[in-house]
Amino acid sequence: MIVAVDGPAASGKGTLARALAAHLGLPHMDTGLLYRAVALNLLRWGGDPDSEFAAARACDFSQLDFADPELKSETVGGVASRVSAYPMVRSALVERQQSFARQPGGAVLDGRDIGTVIAPEAHAKLFVTASPEVRARRRAEELARLGVHAHYEDVLIDIRARDERDTGRAAAPLCPAADALLLDTSDLTIEAAIARAVALVESRR
Ligand code: C5P
Repeated sequence: MIVAVDGPAASGKGTLARALAAHLGLPHMDTGLLYRAVALNLLRWGGDPDSEFAAARACDFSQLDFADPELKSETVGGVASRVSAYPMVRSALVERQQSFARQPGGAVLDGRDIGTVIAPEAHAKLFVTASPEVRARRRAEELARLGVHAHYEDVLIDIRARDERDTGRAAAPLCPAADALLLDTSDLTIEAAIARAVALVESRR
């Protein structure tokens, strides 16, 4: 079974995808990490994020450690959302995601275009949303837990900018697949959101 979990930044899709993978006994891929890896590679080389060719060259990240905490930083996330708009970058990462999705038994993938581009054949597609304010509060709390002090207002501005880039780009923009099940987590606890996500996916089994 292939499960696609898409949604905007800090909507809770990663938490839900991991919980679904554990529930279903399937492997999980956080596809945002691939775009973050391109961004981190580019930043370390001193490449120009405004150059599609430089970003495409940064897609060879075979030497990168995916456990590097720098991948999760706001700076890397911001550059990731810029380089992910380039068709050359997106196409360099498609095969890796599709072969993960199509492995025997299936998989759970979370991202922005899993249900629309990477695995349109997915058996269950969730589109996870929450209001920008709720997402900014969650992201600020998450950063505080990591010891990074960030002002809620700054995080909110950043979230809105990322939403605009992710939904407004020409290549694989963020939007729900026609057959996606919508899950708004704004007023849900983590436990309630997981229970709802499991019920929605079970309804497609
Ligand atoms: O999900 P995360 O915030 O880690 O993703 C970082 C950036 O990578 C996003 O802002 C988005 O622009 C991009 N991304 C994408 N397609 C995916 C996953 C992430 O364009 N499937």
